[in-house]
Amino acid sequence: IVRVSGVTKTFKMGKSELEALKGIDLEIRAGEYLSIMGPSGSGKSTLFNMIGGLDKPSAGKVYIDEVDIAQLDAYELAWLRCRKIGYIFQTFNLIQVMTALENVTLPMTFAGMSNDAAVEKGIRLLERVGLGDRFRHKPSELSGGQQQRVAVARALANDPAIILADEPTGNLDLSTGEEIIALLQNLSRETQVTIISATHDFKMLNVSDRVVWIRDGLVDKIEDRESLSISVGQIGGRD
Ligand code: ATP
Ligand code: MG
Repeated sequence: IVRVSGVTKTFKMGKSELEALKGIDLEIRAGEYLSIMGPSGSGKSTLFNMIGGLDKPSAGKVYIDEVDIAQLDAYELAWLRCRKIGYIFQTFNLIQVMTALENVTLPMTFAGMSNDAAVEKGIRLLERVGLGDRFRHKPSELSGGQQQRVAVARALANDPAIILADEPTGNLDLSTGEEIIALLQNLSRETQVTIISATHDFKMLNVSDRVVWIRDGLVDKIEDRESLSISVGQIGGRD
């Protein structure tokens, strides 16, 4: 569903240059749960921004469903970001002046859904992430874990094919992080959605179909479930 081919990214900082990605090749299959692991500064977020069409590679291509996203016009790119991909960030990135429900309905009304239908679906999504009693709360009135649940509901608003989650548990304590991982795991099991998650969180390994280890802007190795269960020291699959 996603193909990354020879992607490099160089940031210019005044006179110096920093090569954050040095040639990434990666294929992501529809429906899989892929984790991207690597040390801080290895280029995970940069890679995310490329896959999500939030930033452009210096060289190389990103294909989504075999479409080179660099070829999309502004309208098509907006469609991709709004309809095809749901984003989850470490810092939740909710709109502070809006309620939980409004944060979730916004992408739907933006995509042209009627307000009534968006509210109905928004309520369903918030119930699904366990926030059935928090519709009217603003982000500042919610805990970090609850805010991230709102962000998960928002990411699901337009039934995306892909969810991109950059350090979704990075700002959460251990048990709250585990709840978010369980939520993503359930989504992965119960729907066709493809989940791509950048993380430091080794708990994420237990729910991933594959793990891409990146180091210093390059893919270091790719592990699938079988080799993972050995390195994580666990027997058996995700069930
Ligand atoms: P972390 O685990 O800490 O989130 P990361 O793997 O996500 O790290 P990136 O954020 O992708 O790392 O950063 C990779 C490198 O690119 C870093 O050295 C960073 O300083 C640099 N970098 C990232 N974004 C920019 C930018 N907009 N301008 C300049 N340099 C950047
Ligand atoms: Mg990052």
